[in-house]
Amino acid sequence: MIPYGKQKIDESDIDAVVQVLRSNYLTQGPAVGNFEDACSSYLGSKHAVAVANGTAALHLACLSLGLSKGDVLWTSPISFVASANCGKFCGAEIDFVDIDQDTWNLSIPRLEEKLELAHKQGCLPKILVTVHLCGLPCEMESISRLARQYGFRVIEDACHAIGASYLDSKIGDCKFSDVAVFSFHPVKNITSGEGGLVTTNSDEVYEQLKLLRVNGITREQDKFEFSPDGLWYYEQKSLGFNYRLTDIHAALGLSQLSKLDDFLNSRIELVKRYRELLADLPVLFQANPSHSVSGSHLFVVRLIADELPVTQRHVFEYLVANGIGANLHYIPIYRHPYYRSFGYSPESFPEAENYYSQAITLPLFPELTTNQQDEVVGQLKKALG
Ligand SMILES: *Cc1c(COP(=O)(O)O)cnc(C)c1O
Repeated sequence: MIPYGKQKIDESDIDAVVQVLRSNYLTQGPAVGNFEDACSSYLGSKHAVAVANGTAALHLACLSLGLSKGDVLWTSPISFVASANCGKFCGAEIDFVDIDQDTWNLSIPRLEEKLELAHKQGCLPKILVTVHLCGLPCEMESISRLARQYGFRVIEDACHAIGASYLDSKIGDCKFSDVAVFSFHPVKNITSGEGGLVTTNSDEVYEQLKLLRVNGITREQDKFEFSPDGLWYYEQKSLGFNYRLTDIHAALGLSQLSKLDDFLNSRIELVKRYRELLADLPVLFQANPSHSVSGSHLFVVRLIADELPVTQRHVFEYLVANGIGANLHYIPIYRHPYYRSFGYSPESFPEAENYYSQAITLPLFPELTTNQQDEVVGQLKKALG
């Protein structure tokens, strides 16, 4: 089976992990800070906070921007469930903005319409989670303009987009957002095993993130509310979590970060080759605007149903039966049983429904060989009949 995604680990990654295992600190040692410094310098943000996984990063991002019960969070329906769940963790209500038919990211005209209506009805969102689907940056300039106009905060779910850029800005530098969030799960562009990261340029948000990562506890004297009872003294200031990344994970992440640009170039080349090989088939690709470089995390094709004698389901089953690890990113979030109970109607999201009825993810990872890629393309051609 050719998987849809796969990490690439070499001896230097293994050495980095072993070095931590032989050291005094498995967690709360120097590796986490080193990883954070390298991330903020690569991404161009003032601050970076490493956490246990991308979901935890989204959760802390919401909390640090003050999201709480009664607030509203909007996101794209075509994403991993965590993009919406992070709002639920804070007691917020979730709503979705339909996607654009070409970029598959949330649609700016739909967002504008929805904001105008919400403004009239007094139910504007506190936070918008924008998702750079497959690594393609959202139209961040428009989003940040609307954020200023309507007074909401912006979290970039950049879990697909490490290494991507938009205009002259690297995704993660937070030029157009309050916070950006990354994941280092093994299918992502670089991995730490499990792991996540939040970047921000705000000192205030940064302090919140650091506190919430360690159970809301501070040991810094100048932050104490009361005078210390003794040297052992520390204070819990708010309800935080244990969302720490271990030094073992951080060492792997740091070693992987040095290879990100190479991985990204391989991904970009493979996507280019897929587009050439599949050009004559009745499939659609994600838009490829010249002002962006995609993180090229996933390669999704949309089957043009009217031009095909076969169904999406047949194509998917054919690929899997013939050793191609096809996938589907994603089932619209409102379709999951948990979200159905809140009463969203699929008719409100016609483009997301359309996308869901056509999309198939094909294998893409740095070590995918051209032979394997030819095999994927050959099987897809056969599946399409
Ligand atoms: C992977 C992913 C997440 C969650 O990251 P984890 O590290 O698995 O918790 C969130 N959003 C998107 C878009 C993702 O792809």
